[in-house]
Amino acid sequence: MADATVVKPDLDFVKGVIAAGGESLKKCYQCATCTVVCNVTPDKNPFPRKEMVWAQWGLKEKFKGNPDVWLCHQCNDCSSYCPRGAKPGEVLGAIRKQTIKQYSAPGVLVDLVNNKKFWPLIVAVPAVLLAVLLSAAGTFGIPEGEVIFSKFASTHFIQFVFTPALIFGVAVGILGMKKFWADMKQANGVYSGDLKGSVTETLKEVAGHQKFKSCGVSADRFTSHFLVFYSFIALGIATALGVLYIDILGMESPFRLGYGTPVKLFGNIGAIALIAGILLMMNSRFKNAEKLGVGSYFDWLLIGIIGTVALSGFLAQLMRIAGVAPLAYPIYFIHLVFVFSLFIYLPFSKLAHIFYRGAAMCFLKYSGREAEQAVVQPEAKTEIPAASGPETGESAGEAGQAETKQE
Ligand code: SF4
Ligand code: SF4
Repeated sequence: MADATVVKPDLDFVKGVIAAGGESLKKCYQCATCTVVCNVTPDKNPFPRKEMVWAQWGLKEKFKGNPDVWLCHQCNDCSSYCPRGAKPGEVLGAIRKQTIKQYSAPGVLVDLVNNKKFWPLIVAVPAVLLAVLLSAAGTFGIPEGEVIFSKFASTHFIQFVFTPALIFGVAVGILGMKKFWADMKQANGVYSGDLKGSVTETLKEVAGHQKFKSCGVSADRFTSHFLVFYSFIALGIATALGVLYIDILGMESPFRLGYGTPVKLFGNIGAIALIAGILLMMNSRFKNAEKLGVGSYFDWLLIGIIGTVALSGFLAQLMRIAGVAPLAYPIYFIHLVFVFSLFIYLPFSKLAHIFYRGAAMCFLKYSGREAEQAVVQPEAKTEIPAASGPETGESAGEAGQAETKQE
């Protein structure tokens, strides 16, 4: 007789998933339609059906070192086709928030940053800190004369305050990613593989946003995420050029150069792409709200922070050009507060997916699971019929597509 397995539910974990946007969790009756329609899951041991039952039962330990919740790209094809109206795409998003707590230390900051009760606090703390530091530097106020932002926050002030904030965010993220990697190796019994080749392949996949291309219902997520991703790269290049001009070439303020210079070109193209990407993301959320849900606070906080960074940067520049000092400097201050927030909350907010999804995608290759999938089923993409879905009551599993996955 087989040994009995004792299930030890962690009710706090279940409550946490529900509170983070996974309220549809209990509707799941394990039909596996979601797993069948998901075009992102590996064929071997696929998701998200198994994650739904683990989360229902509060099996928190199952998510320790589990790459699958991070392989999900939240396209919500599964949510669209669930015959019970459960939203596995959103539930996996809520589980991801719970697993960030396991890895990004201190975990209490994940709760603080992602709890809507505390949103005034998470804006007020960076605002007060920057106001105090600017006051100490003697520049907190509206300077006389032509609008020049370096009179308000000098380039050396920006470097002195923002570089440590970015280093903090990246360092916490990398430490969390290392713990996650070790747990994935242990949980999956994989202790060797081609790390260099896996990293290279992952970087190529991320650069081309290949997984997003397989989204069906939210196909526009490819464009919006692509724009936001490359806008960050463009803005990073503009910042690096700023450092080059100031610290290496000794120029006082490269940001006042003409619009044809690389620093301005990368800065403005990045800002326009960022605004366009965020607007598309918001549009996608509202357009599919009925079927997929409008998203959780965890999702909207990141959209809000990035959107405010983009909009305040753009408006500050407009006010500077128009010479409206009483508006230009306060808007610029808001811009600085949100950039600072973006950096320090990086490993605690949804943006932590940079580290954990990257690691999970790499592990899929490193462990050989992806190559195994390619041999088993070369044409991984499931064609999703446009007219079926929850309204019809017919599941994709019932429609005979289940042979593509091997649970
Ligand atoms: S399709 Fe819905 S009901 Fe079926 S297993 Fe997935 S989440 Fe559960
Ligand atoms: S949201 Fe998309 S990627 Fe995630 S499990 Fe559902 S279908 Fe798969």
